[in-house]
Amino acid sequence: MTAVFMLSTACSRAPVTHRIQVNAIPDPLMSSLGTSAYGDMLRGSTIQREHPDAKTLKRVGKKISRIARRPDYRWRYALIEDDDTINAWCLPGGKIGFYTGILPVLNNEAGMGFVMGHEVGHAMANHSAERITQQATVLGGLTALHLYLDRNSDMPKGARDMLLAALGLGFEIGVLLPFSRAHEKEADIIGMMFMARAGYPPEESIQVWTRMNQASGNNGVPAFLSTHPSHKERKKNLREWLPAARKRFERNRTERDTLTPLWKPKG
Ligand SMILES: [Zn+2]
Repeated sequence: MTAVFMLSTACSRAPVTHRIQVNAIPDPLMSSLGTSAYGDMLRGSTIQREHPDAKTLKRVGKKISRIARRPDYRWRYALIEDDDTINAWCLPGGKIGFYTGILPVLNNEAGMGFVMGHEVGHAMANHSAERITQQATVLGGLTALHLYLDRNSDMPKGARDMLLAALGLGFEIGVLLPFSRAHEKEADIIGMMFMARAGYPPEESIQVWTRMNQASGNNGVPAFLSTHPSHKERKKNLREWLPAARKRFERNRTERDTLTPLWKPKG
């Protein structure tokens, strides 16, 4: 069984940081999980479509996803009406959700560019697949997963459900497992590089974490922060990578002002 594991577990490298990762879940399966979860996440929510903020989200999303270079992804950007939720996510396959509650923390287009880059970074670095692989190893389900994938390489409808049931994972939890500290730091680095390449001043990433920390003082810990590292740790990490991001920004900067406040802090 160890041989099966060795043969079918792919090693790859994360973008930007080049960290070596072990990932047992094929990309097409993750994308299809992401699409299912996207439907679940949006069901029962009000999605803003015509609001100027929704258009800003789409514009920023397109800028960042162009840099991610995944033509196989069908990108979607949903602005979900929920002022109490300070959160955003990007599911595998390029399905992105931002809650209106995070807008005051983003404050401006550059801030949105950073969080967009951070979320897209989780997807580009296959963090969900890595988490599921780790979880499956813990559950002892990896062998079952491999045997299943060997026999069902084209993943017919219903097969995914069985697969995940075998792993003890539901759709949403499968794709939205909390990320580890290492994943959060990596997504911050990728986010800052992506925003800089999209022409947004990378220093704003640090300001986002300052505002996030202030927001957490008012309303308890936002979901966005709940997985650590602390905002101090994040800012230190970002400062270390800032000179490299700065170079990318200088090559791609636009004259347009992306720091004008678009959203005011609450209360
Ligand atoms: Zn994150």
